[in-house]
Amino acid sequence: MKTLRTSLGLVVLALAGPVLADYPDKPITIVVPFTAGGPTDKVARDLAEAMRKPLGGQSVIIENVGGAGGTLGAAKVARAPNDGYTLLLHHIGISTAPSLYRTLPYKTLEDFEYVGMVNEVPMTLIGKPTLPASNYAELLKWMEANKGKINLANAGLGAASHLCGLLLQSSLKIDMQTVPYKGTAPAMNDLLGGQVDIMCDQTTNTTGQIEAGKVKAFAVTSSKRLTTPALKNLPTLDEAGLKGFNVNIWHGVYAPKGTPKAVTDKLNAALRAALKDPDFIKREEALGAVIITDARLGGAEHKKFVEAEIAKWGPIIKAAGQYAD
Ligand code: ASP
Repeated sequence: MKTLRTSLGLVVLALAGPVLADYPDKPITIVVPFTAGGPTDKVARDLAEAMRKPLGGQSVIIENVGGAGGTLGAAKVARAPNDGYTLLLHHIGISTAPSLYRTLPYKTLEDFEYVGMVNEVPMTLIGKPTLPASNYAELLKWMEANKGKINLANAGLGAASHLCGLLLQSSLKIDMQTVPYKGTAPAMNDLLGGQVDIMCDQTTNTTGQIEAGKVKAFAVTSSKRLTTPALKNLPTLDEAGLKGFNVNIWHGVYAPKGTPKAVTDKLNAALRAALKDPDFIKREEALGAVIITDARLGGAEHKKFVEAEIAKWGPIIKAAGQYAD
């Protein structure tokens, strides 16, 4: 959106067609509400690269605003100028935070234009390399023996890793000490160093570490086993005994409320083109992510999906019993 100054000194908003036809005429920033190098960041960086061409070669820059389970970055975008140059790439946390926080610094369904959905990504339950357990049954024994002493890393209240860990603790009825980070990239570093014991994290961050044998891998959080070579022998938590356990992370793109429809339409078209980019598809598939090809690619449909996710997770989170102010 451009502002023009009239001879009377009044500022008028110029949203006319020709101005929007130029969009984007400067770099676009995608805010990632977690630290650099983590799973959300990886998806965002790959997507930024794939969206550049359909956006006429314009640069798409990533800004990491980690903290408070993704709510700080989301709040920043909710308050950003609604001109199409500041976007948010968030995950399932946008729909679990309303149930996890008593108050949020933004309104999930009212403060954003929904651009579209990107992918679905399962999580893995992993442990530090020195953990004396090599499969889920051994992990369970170790957890029983270490009740109250287990350090469970996460990316803060409202993060996917927090949601997964919360469900894990309530299904196992084992309380753990949660250690919050601003994203699971620094949490992974501490897990590798043995400062924390276990963590749930997206396959986009764990596949390489599992493949290289740098972390212990115990299970996947999806309802079905995965086909990615490094992950295909891992049981689902459901088959390992936690009946009904199914946490599937997804990512979407959002713009501040009031971003002109012509702009969000352009962004949606660029998103659709990016999701057909063979390099992007290859990278995502290798990391266990599934690209969206259904109606949720559309902004309105994605918003409906987020509404359904808020309704789905609310009672589950309530039953697991954990909130923050
Ligand atoms: N995987 C993190 C989470 O727990 C977020 C991240 O660092 O991308 O939500």
